[in-house]
Amino acid sequence: MIQLRRATVRYGAVTALREVNLQVRPGDRLALVGANGSGKSTLLRALHGLIDLTEGHREVQGWGASTQGPAMAMLFQKPFLLNLSVQANLNLALWLRGVPRHERPARVRDALQKARLSDCAGRFARALSGGQQQRLALARAWVTRPDLLFLDEPTASLDPGAKKDVERLISEFAAEGVTVVMSTHNLGQVKRLATRVAYLEAGQVQVDCDVPAFFEGPLPAEAAQFLRGERI
Ligand code: ADP
Ligand code: MG
Repeated sequence: MIQLRRATVRYGAVTALREVNLQVRPGDRLALVGANGSGKSTLLRALHGLIDLTEGHREVQGWGASTQGPAMAMLFQKPFLLNLSVQANLNLALWLRGVPRHERPARVRDALQKARLSDCAGRFARALSGGQQQRLALARAWVTRPDLLFLDEPTASLDPGAKKDVERLISEFAAEGVTVVMSTHNLGQVKRLATRVAYLEAGQVQVDCDVPAFFEGPLPAEAAQFLRGERI
């Protein structure tokens, strides 16, 4: 779906990504892991196209019957919600995508149900709990029917119960065929949600393998240290 070739991203003097080659394939559940500052967020943004590469190429494959690329959505650690009702946040996402007015109510209802937010439809989004806000952010992505969902540490600021609910929702989306690329610090989450892992070390993808191979090893020294919890 998306391919990076020798992708380099610099912020001034800082090289955040260094000649990364990475391919996102349909149906992937790809987890990006690595220490703080290793380049996970930058890689997600580069894959999505939110930031330009300093060097290298990003290619997007045609998707399905259309010649356009896949429809993409991105979620951040702290959800960006508008200070409107829950329902209005979803409606706005549909309006922005050009979904005809008559189709919107049913799709909003479905998304609310899926995220188990039907009882909160009229509440202000920013008055919800952290977990509910992240579920709303997921519902807002899902309501637009993305082919590809990018998640940047989606449960990092949530308590364990809320984490579980958000993980369940991500699993459901993946089971429906949405391709998922997520960064996480949580190795349990990698086991629960991902099928493939890319380990980043100082802006480079040092390991790219399926989940069992990552946990069984052998791995390069830095990746093995990360797995033992010795690199944060
Ligand atoms: P991660 O998500 O793995 O913590 P990031 O992609 O956020 O890593 O950051 C990679 C490197 O790029 C770090 O050294 C970080 O300090 C630097 N960086 C990230 N964003 C910016 C920015 N907007 N300006 C300057 N440096 C940045
Ligand atoms: Mg990050």
